[in-house]
Parts: sequence; C-alpha cells; structure tokens
Amino acid sequence: MLPNIRIVLVQTFHPGNIGASARAMKTMGLTDLVLVNPRRFPDPDATRLAAGAEDLVERARVVATLEEAVGDCVQVVGASARLRSLPLPHFDEPDTMARALVEHAAADPVALVFGRERFGLTNDEIRLCSHQVSIPANPEYGILNLAQAVQVLGYELFKAWRHRPESGYHPLRPEQERAPSREQLGHFHDHLARVMRHSGFLTQPHAQTEAQLQALFARAEPSRKELSLLRGLLASLERHLPEGKR
Ligand code: SAH
Repeated sequence: MLPNIRIVLVQTFHPGNIGASARAMKTMGLTDLVLVNPRRFPDPDATRLAAGAEDLVERARVVATLEEAVGDCVQVVGASARLRSLPLPHFDEPDTMARALVEHAAADPVALVFGRERFGLTNDEIRLCSHQVSIPANPEYGILNLAQAVQVLGYELFKAWRHRPESGYHPLRPEQERAPSREQLGHFHDHLARVMRHSGFLTQPHAQTEAQLQALFARAEPSRKELSLLRGLLASLERHLPEGKR
C-alpha cells in the first residue's frame, strides 16, 4: 500500500520488538522493513511476535549502518521521545510529518527511523536524518515501547494516505524539481567541506560549522536542480585553488 515508505529500526536489542514492529507495520499497510545492525536476528522471538506479519520479518533487510539504510531516500524522519537541541527541522505534530512523507513517497523512497530501546538514536544518527518527529505524550512519562511508537506513527501515515487528495498532494513534479536523495546531499556536503578546507576558510575539519551548514541546507530543502547548481559553483571555485588543493 505504501511501498515507498521504509521503516528503519536501529540496533534493536530485543528481537521480539522487531516482530511486534513488523506486525504494527502490516496493520498500517507498510511493508519495507530495514534493520540496522540488530543484536539478534533472525530469531524465533521476532517470528513469534510478528503473528500474521512473518512475511515482513522474512523479507526484512539487514544493513550495517544507518547511512546504508537511507541513502536513496529523499526524506528521512528520526523519531525520538525528546527532541534534541540539534538545529534540524522537526515536525511539531505526527500528522504533519505523515502528510509530508506520503507526499514525497508518491515519487521517491522515504524513511522513518526508530532508535534503540535503551538510548534511542545517537546525535550522529539524528544528523543523518532530514527531520525529527516526536509523539506528543505525557510530559512526565512520554517514552513509548518501540513497536508502539511504530504503531502510532504508522497509523498517522496510513491516515494521511487514506485522506490524500484524489490527484495526490500535488501533481508529480519532474525529477529535477524534486528533493535530492540523502546520498546526493551527502556528496554535496563532502564537496562543500573540501572547498572550505582547501580554500583556507577552515584550517582543520570543524564538525560544528559543517553541522550548522548542513542544518541551513536542510531548512532550505533544495531541489536536485538547485543542488547541481551549487555543485557547479563549488567546482568552479575549486578551479581557482592552487594545484594540489583541488
Ligand atoms: N530510552 C530511549 C527511548 C527508546 S524508545 C530514549 O531515551 O531516547 C525506542 C524508540 O521508540 C525511540 O528511539 C524512538 O524512535 C521511539 N519512541 C519512543 N517514544 C517516542 C515518542 N514519544 N515519540 C517519538 N518516538 C518515540
């Protein structure tokens, strides 16, 4: 039903939670499950808790890093109980997130990323996301079980899909006007970092400056065409750098 919407579970500790998440997904029409470095998988507990969703567990792909799991996606939303103070755009409400993901998923893959039972997602993993979302809950105890978080956000996605306007949220735009994949955006940021260092703007790798610029471009949501314009600009600046610094 929602083939372009991927659910990514990062380093799940209890295999039962993988099965329960698969079941939550299937009830909401989601089928693409990717597991980043799970502690135990495959595992009988995962199959048992999947109930009628063993097919999703069997088809789940296992990868080593979050980067690998979401490289081809144009929007990647990290779910966390508490929003980090990272300068990353966040959706205030799950239904706004769901509409945005369903809209992008009409043409390109997107992902919703869930963290570990014990300590959620690391800051580096959140940085690989384009947005954050949190499920509004009791301020005194607002942390849901992993599979229940998948259920709630999956329900919002299903609802957004069910209520989508007949012609989609807006007519399908040509490829160059759509959002770049995380991998394309990653190449741009690597290129930018290289030019900043080689031009002497940064004398050494400076993660904070790079993170601030990443956040700036994340907010701007450049299209593929705008991104190639920026890559062209960087390439032309590079040509003015001394030989060996390009
Ligand atoms: N102890 C962890 C929470 C882990 S719960 C922490 O403090 O971060 C496992 C995962 O479920 C989280 O990483 C997140 O992806 C999801 N989750 C749990 N509660 C959530 C909430 N209120 N909003 C969004 N995601 C939530």
